[in-house]
Amino acid sequence: MMFLGLAAAAPGQTPPTLLVIPQPKSLRPGAGVFVWKQDARWQLRAPMRDERLWQAADGLLPAGRGQFVASRRAGYDLQMGTEPGVNFPSGGKLPAWAANPEGYRLLVTSKGIFLQAGTAQGAFYGLQTLGQLLERNGRDFSCPAVEIEDWPSLRFRGVHWFPSASGAPMCRRMIDHVFPMLKLNRCVVECEAARWDCHPEIAMTNSISKAALRQLVEECRSRFIEPIPLIDVPGHAKWMFRHGQNLDLAEDAQTPYACCVKNPKTIQFIEAVMTECIDLFHPRTFHIGHDEITDRGRFPNPQCPLCRGETTASLTAESANRLADWLAARGIATMMWGDMLLAPGEAADATCAKNAGEARQQRAGISKKITITDWHYWNPSRRSLDILQQAGFHTIASTWQQPEDIFQFSQAAIASGSDGLLQTTWAGFFPDESGMRNDIAQYAAYVLAADYAWSGRSDPPAKLGYDAQKIFLKAYAANSPPTVKPIRLRAKILRPAPLRRLCAGLSPIIAARWRR
Ligand SMILES: [Zn+2]
Repeated sequence: MMFLGLAAAAPGQTPPTLLVIPQPKSLRPGAGVFVWKQDARWQLRAPMRDERLWQAADGLLPAGRGQFVASRRAGYDLQMGTEPGVNFPSGGKLPAWAANPEGYRLLVTSKGIFLQAGTAQGAFYGLQTLGQLLERNGRDFSCPAVEIEDWPSLRFRGVHWFPSASGAPMCRRMIDHVFPMLKLNRCVVECEAARWDCHPEIAMTNSISKAALRQLVEECRSRFIEPIPLIDVPGHAKWMFRHGQNLDLAEDAQTPYACCVKNPKTIQFIEAVMTECIDLFHPRTFHIGHDEITDRGRFPNPQCPLCRGETTASLTAESANRLADWLAARGIATMMWGDMLLAPGEAADATCAKNAGEARQQRAGISKKITITDWHYWNPSRRSLDILQQAGFHTIASTWQQPEDIFQFSQAAIASGSDGLLQTTWAGFFPDESGMRNDIAQYAAYVLAADYAWSGRSDPPAKLGYDAQKIFLKAYAANSPPTVKPIRLRAKILRPAPLRRLCAGLSPIIAARWRR
């Protein structure tokens, strides 16, 4: 865990406005500063030891100086100094931070630090906040006095991204340093292009190995991030046809883009990849894509003997419902994108049903057990979320890089009672650090999405009082330079990262850290 040092308060000085991202629900600055040395002691009292929480505390507070005390009382208490703690609230109406499984309360006075939460995850988020308030002065550490009560506005706060062989170090940095600090709790990992044992013929040069992917999945879990695999079918299925393979599974072999959902060999192919994926992720939820199915080629193809007499709506529903049932039989919930369920006029973009009638058919035919990730990257509004919810679906608002859109759609997600927000990344199918300069707006957008999804704040992007790009780069740099391992193949595209220059130009703090 890093010291982000968003607030610069020297001991004895009045602290400046404290900047914590995501913005806490309640933050009251106090008087004075708590100062300690790096050999100071601290204590974690909890019903049971949670290794994820322990690692986070040991990384932030004096390492190796912590003591775990098994407690019969409810709640997780972390204490340093002599500020007396209080029991976790019980009975009657709980305060909002204590009632929320991700909530926490952080009290810092000149005497000490007292962090309290109902769950290990809540305490973990309290540590993320504390990490942003700490300052290091030689051997001393300090934190300005403050009282924070905090809990999230949306329970699902995710980022969607693609893993790759050359991009694994970047993903690790995101999972280790960026996502936890932003209190994100889901990753939707679009991994159809991984190196699957059952179909080695479709692997690409930069496909991630299963070992590297497994490591990323484990890193997510060790930071309270639930990984959700995404295998995109039946459209966007070019991954099945790489190197001219498996063309007999295409719905339209002249334009191999969607697969035939009624062909038993297609079903076998998809279930084989998904089985391997499930063995690797052990997911609670699986995302099955189902977006832009009619983008290219014919679907249904009138020349496909299996799909004769079918419609786009009947094939989409058959495919989605079959996979959802197959996943449910394995105890796994299903998610899919929402564009096939919306018609032009129902949202400003991502409306792939031909007309209102087809959209209604899609919404009627698709199982309501499937959660819809409703993506809109242009002028999103609450309307599409309401339409999908009225049809009986749980919804998650999905955003991209425009700050104003992230603001509007996160507000719409909260107002409509959606489950959450999913921030998407579209930086190529095999992204790595070498592309970070070009796609920096997408990465900076993680900060905005996380802030809005957790805080529910109603300040537009221009009024947030910070530069999301600087915050992202500072968190990403996390006290040490990135470790880019450019691969030699495709050298024209994958050059060593120019990130160091980019960061140095933006933040003197990062430049100083990297010179060390
Ligand atoms: Zn077919």
